[in-house]
Amino acid sequence: MEHQTVSSQGAFGLMLTVHELAHQWFGDKISPVSWTEIWLNEGFASYSEALYFEATRGVDYFRQYMTWMDRDFDYAILVDDTSHVGRIFDNTVYDKAGWFLHMLRGIVGDDHFFSILQSYLEDPRFAYGSATTDGFRSVCESVSGRDLQWFFDPWMHYPGRPNYRAQWDLNPEGNGYLLNLSLQQIQQAPSTFFPMPLDIRLHSDVWDSTITVFQEAPEQNFSLRLSRPVTEISLDPDLKVLKHIDAVTRSGGDDLPSSFRLSPNFPNPFNGRTRVSLDLPETSRISAAVHSVSGSEVMEILMQQTLPAGRHLLDIDFDRNTQRAPSSGLYFLKVLVHSRDNMSLTEKILYLK
Ligand SMILES: [Zn+2]
Repeated sequence: MEHQTVSSQGAFGLMLTVHELAHQWFGDKISPVSWTEIWLNEGFASYSEALYFEATRGVDYFRQYMTWMDRDFDYAILVDDTSHVGRIFDNTVYDKAGWFLHMLRGIVGDDHFFSILQSYLEDPRFAYGSATTDGFRSVCESVSGRDLQWFFDPWMHYPGRPNYRAQWDLNPEGNGYLLNLSLQQIQQAPSTFFPMPLDIRLHSDVWDSTITVFQEAPEQNFSLRLSRPVTEISLDPDLKVLKHIDAVTRSGGDDLPSSFRLSPNFPNPFNGRTRVSLDLPETSRISAAVHSVSGSEVMEILMQQTLPAGRHLLDIDFDRNTQRAPSSGLYFLKVLVHSRDNMSLTEKILYLK
């Protein structure tokens, strides 16, 4: 453990050695002003263990270590009852406070985070003396250039953590898609709302992409325009936030079409433009084209596009086909479902100029 000017240890396990060495800075060089703020020692020493494993064993092991540090924490990080030792040295001030520093790192970024640690240790207000949580926050804010009270206050004063419930849907819009995401924190009192940035990973058949949303209300909606469909989303894939996840669901999932189906076009007959709807019970790779009675292709509508499950509207615009203006008559809209062995769906359309 840390003492004035020196750390001591009764055993020499690797994790303990890293922890006690870290106390030479966080504990010996700077001590908390009171027991209430003991996290300024133990949270930093605990997160130092994780940083040591990140540096020596890589990011996968680091994330495993952070997962191991995720316990059922009963309390807020600031100790509100310092009347007995067991309460002061609860694992909250070690591992939850370690997670707090990890979340701070996620918010300000690696460069700012490690500059914060250095600046804090060199700050003449604290070095070889005592510090407070507010003092540490002032260093974080001056190095990062950001107000951080919204982050410190709930985590310091309230027990618990965010418990996320997410619901999303995806609809065709214009040339692309509109993703709607409803994000809720459903934890009960005495916990509270934690304003937090949260990474959302969007998965599709061909790519993954990660966006960060900032949740500033217990229930909030986000909309995102996408050029390609998304098949699944996941929350906080890189473990930046101490949290529970209650559920991530796709809304309207029960209303999905039960089979592949093309509906008759409207208007029919048509002069210039008509529209059909295509029902997909699953995400599918689709081509669609209009063919003449003799079988030649008159107009391409979709070329090998991946579409999510749901109902899609296909526009057939003969006015657009100015090079080879089709003559009046019967045509066939043919849809190929490549992801189902090129299963084909056909609908007759009648064009009257
Ligand atoms: Zn310690």
